[in-house]
Amino acid sequence: MTELDPHIARLHRGGVIDMHFDLPLDLFWHRDRQNMIAEKFLAEFEAGDVALLGVAIYVEDQHLGPDALRVALDQVALVKAEIDSNPRLMFCRSFADIERARSEGRIGLLLTMEGAEPLGDDLHLVRIFYELGLRSMSLTHARQNAAASGGIFAASGSSPHGLTSFGRELVRECERLGILLDLAHINAAGFDDVCALTAKPLIVSHSNARRYHDVERNISDDQIKVIGERGGVIGVNAILVSPTAHDATLDRYVDHIEHIANLIGIDGVGIGFDFCEFLFCQMPAAEREAMEAKLTRPHYIAELGNHSHARNLTRKLIERGFNDADIEKILRGNWLRVLQQTL
Ligand SMILES: [Zn+2]
Repeated sequence: MTELDPHIARLHRGGVIDMHFDLPLDLFWHRDRQNMIAEKFLAEFEAGDVALLGVAIYVEDQHLGPDALRVALDQVALVKAEIDSNPRLMFCRSFADIERARSEGRIGLLLTMEGAEPLGDDLHLVRIFYELGLRSMSLTHARQNAAASGGIFAASGSSPHGLTSFGRELVRECERLGILLDLAHINAAGFDDVCALTAKPLIVSHSNARRYHDVERNISDDQIKVIGERGGVIGVNAILVSPTAHDATLDRYVDHIEHIANLIGIDGVGIGFDFCEFLFCQMPAAEREAMEAKLTRPHYIAELGNHSHARNLTRKLIERGFNDADIEKILRGNWLRVLQQTL
C-alpha cells in the first residue's frame, strides 16, 4: 500500500482498455485445454482493472496459405468457447455491449485481426468475419500479403509499394461495415493509401514513436500527426519502447505517451500494451531465436510486463504530472470515443 493507491484505484474505477492482446494465439497453441483465461489470465486482468481487450486473430508463418482461414476460425471459436464458460467475460460487438460489460463489471473482449491473411484475396470473407464479431482490422503484420505490405523492424528497407487493388477494396469494405482500420505494422506507402481512401477516425492499436525506436514498424512524427488530424488514437506498445534493454523502462513508455500528446494532444493517446513475453517464453529456444533474428528482440519492461502491472503505469503517470482527466483519457476515454464513433 502506498499513499497513491486510493488515487490509482479511483482512476481505475472505469477500467483500463488495451487494444492489442494476442490472446487467440495462445488459446490456439493450447487448443486442447479449456478454461485457459480463467486459469492463466483472469487474475492479471482483474489486478489491472482491465475493462476491455482487443484480442487479435493472428496466423503464424507456418499456417499461411489455404490453412490460414481454418486457423483464424479456430481462434474465433476458442475465444467464444472461453467466454461461454466464464461469466466474468463478455464478447462485445457494439459500443452498447462495451458499455454493458463495463456497467456489469465484466471484462469485454473485442475481436480484432492482425494481418489480413485469413481472407486470402476474397473480399466476401470480411463480411463473414464481421458477422463473427470482427470490429478492428490491421491489414498486415511484418509480412506482405494480398492486401498490403508490413513495415520491417529496421530503419529503412520496407516495400515501397502501398495497397494492392484487393487491399483498397478491403479498406473500403471495412469502413462501410464499421470495422475500425488499424494502421499498426503497415509500411509507409500503405499507411498513406489507407488515409487517402477513408474518412472515419483511424487507429494504430499498438505502436511506438520512431523518435525513440527508429524502425519502420513504428510510426513517424508525420504519421502521428495524421492520426491526430483524423481524430484517431495511437495505443502505446510496451515491448518496443527502446532498441536497448537498458532504456526499456516505464519512464520511457511514458516518454512515448508524452511525445504523442505533445504532437497531437492527449486525445490521441491510448494503450496497446501488446504483452507477449508469455508467448515468447513458450517457444522452443531455436524457434524463438529464428523469430528474433527475422523480426527483432523485444525488450520487456520489468514493471510493465503483463496486465497486472497496469497500476504501475497509472502511478507513473501521476508521478510524471499528468492530471486525472488526462490519465482517464489514456486509460480508456480515448478508445471509448473512437469505438463509439466507429462501431
Ligand atoms: Zn503486432
